[in-house]
Amino acid sequence: MMPSGKLNTEGRTMKLSNRIANINGGGSDGWEVFLRAREMIGAGQPVIELTIGEHDIKTDPIIIDAMFASAKSGNTTYSAVPGSPALRAEIAARYQRLTGVETKAGNVLVTSGGQAALFSAHLAALNPGDTGLICDPYYATYPGVLRAAGAEVQMVPTRSSDNFLPQRGALAAAAKNAKSLLINSPNNPTGVVYPLETMQMIADVCIGHDLWLISDEVYDSQIWQGAHISPRGLPGMAERTLVVGSMSKSHAMTGSRIGWIIGPEEIIDQIMNLSTVNAYGVPGFIQDAAEFALKQGPEFEAKIADVFRRRTEMSQEILQKTNALRLIPAQGAMYLMLDVRNTGMSGEQFANKLLDEELIAVMPGESFGNSAAGHVRVAMTIADAPFVKALKRLVDFAERQ
Ligand code: PMP
Repeated sequence: MMPSGKLNTEGRTMKLSNRIANINGGGSDGWEVFLRAREMIGAGQPVIELTIGEHDIKTDPIIIDAMFASAKSGNTTYSAVPGSPALRAEIAARYQRLTGVETKAGNVLVTSGGQAALFSAHLAALNPGDTGLICDPYYATYPGVLRAAGAEVQMVPTRSSDNFLPQRGALAAAAKNAKSLLINSPNNPTGVVYPLETMQMIADVCIGHDLWLISDEVYDSQIWQGAHISPRGLPGMAERTLVVGSMSKSHAMTGSRIGWIIGPEEIIDQIMNLSTVNAYGVPGFIQDAAEFALKQGPEFEAKIADVFRRRTEMSQEILQKTNALRLIPAQGAMYLMLDVRNTGMSGEQFANKLLDEELIAVMPGESFGNSAAGHVRVAMTIADAPFVKALKRLVDFAERQ
């Protein structure tokens, strides 16, 4: 999808930097089924999309009103680069409420979404040529983030039979040459929430191998089973952990592009220098809207998350009746990870055939790394009734194979 290599302008061919040319890493980017579904929709076919992590609701009008009021009142100038003091304080208070870890406004840097936070955190932790670890399966942009930071990517494989929880052996082996580890709980694409033992093991390995830990917690409001544990709260971890957060999933504000990094104050101060030379701050009216949204409290977030809790419960009822598919414990986030290996197909074959025969689009597990081969990810991002209908058709399809 991304241009790479050389750019041709008016007959002259300029050579792009390796940094840009290498972002997509070459080869398939795993989005073929998604793109084919979009093409089919463009050609008028009634394809049901269970592909990307976008809510089926829009940002609440009360948040848009707050955004409009802020802009109307003149908050359209440059904003404070690290974020407004009031927003930083709200983010710190929310994180402290969720995790119990003492956090102040000075620990928070406001960024353009969790995505920019992931990139800034890796630029902060890694020198060019350093190795950064990613747990496989992973969120699609992760390898590109590391490559854009000039880092070498090393995968930490996980197994479906371990519910995709990283294990000490694989992690410790990979950690030998590494400088950072990126984790994500609740997890996209697997829907798994890391329990305390896993987080403790991760903390142990990070301390033992002197790794930075980058903890992507953008789904922290979507937990159906277990509890959200932020590894920043574990002994010895605060100084080496950068937490990535976002309003995208918790407040259905994907398009507002607002997120954050939480870390040690002196490190946040320095990562701010990157924001100065890059985005030069997040729009003030968006920050005000985000502050207003956070002030609506946990009930507001629960209302947005409960839709996915409900769909998870409905799915479990449907999926427990079949042997053709195995549901990876759906403990959080807006996705179901299904093991389709009993059908004899790879995730890609299953997703392609399902699209052709049933006009239902899901993501092949292979799009998220080798560890998720033979699985598909189903995003629960359409209304309840059509979702249930689509899932039942998916199960019938699997049973016919
Ligand atoms: N991390 C994960 C695991 C995600 O799924 C996403 C978005 N789908 C992001 C980070 C980035 O989110 P945003 O930039 O919208 O905050």
